[in-house]
Amino acid sequence: MKRLIEMNSVTKDFLQGDNIIRALKETNFIAHEGELVGIIGPSGSGKSTFLTILGGLQKPTIGRVLLNGKPFSDLEIKEKSRIRLEHIGFILQASNLIPFLTIKEQMILYNKITKTKVNQSWMDELFQKLDVEKLKDKYPSELSGGERQRSAIAKALYHQPSVIFADEPTASLDTNRAYEVVKLLAKETKEQKKATIMVTHDERMLEYCDRVYVIVDGVLSERKG
Ligand code: ADP
Repeated sequence: MKRLIEMNSVTKDFLQGDNIIRALKETNFIAHEGELVGIIGPSGSGKSTFLTILGGLQKPTIGRVLLNGKPFSDLEIKEKSRIRLEHIGFILQASNLIPFLTIKEQMILYNKITKTKVNQSWMDELFQKLDVEKLKDKYPSELSGGERQRSAIAKALYHQPSVIFADEPTASLDTNRAYEVVKLLAKETKEQKKATIMVTHDERMLEYCDRVYVIVDGVLSERKG
């Protein structure tokens, strides 16, 4: 199985007053194509640090991140932003939707930024799959929590990234909607051969994950069984 993203011997230190806090102890991690990986851990344990370093939003203190087998964390900011835009999709707690754009406009924004052609057939297919078709001309504020997250998944998949980061994607949803959204995320991850890394507080969502990791005090370990 192809490795889509990996972390090699990464540590992250922060200065808090006169103290150095090691937010992430030496960490190795690999996500392959078709895998939905769950990350859990108490508040303050290092989940955001892990995710933001993996996504290139923060630099490791030591070690490196590879994306599609190529150095990622070492790149200059401009190049990193370009690669992130192309290869990484984000689904956030409050969805990753822009309030003043309709759902369709959110998708097309990617084409505007990258000066590429709109892929209408793929957009239509995603709208169908995620049951977003009738929502495409609405603004995020006109949608329910579940509809917003389904639209956010469509947006994250539209530009065909290799890796998707989902940070508490079900936090604003009731149980049934949450299951529905994670099931869709698992299915698309498999079908589109993505690697999806999902941080969640919700143990019930872990049954859809291929692997689950726990972070405690900056130490990442795989949870077996
Ligand atoms: P989680 O996402 O699991 O709540 P974080 O990754 O946000 O945990 O934080 C892990 C530890 O690193 C905490 O002790 C936090 O205070 C510290 N930390 C995170 N970001 C910073 C920062 N920018 N500056 C200083 N300390 C930070």
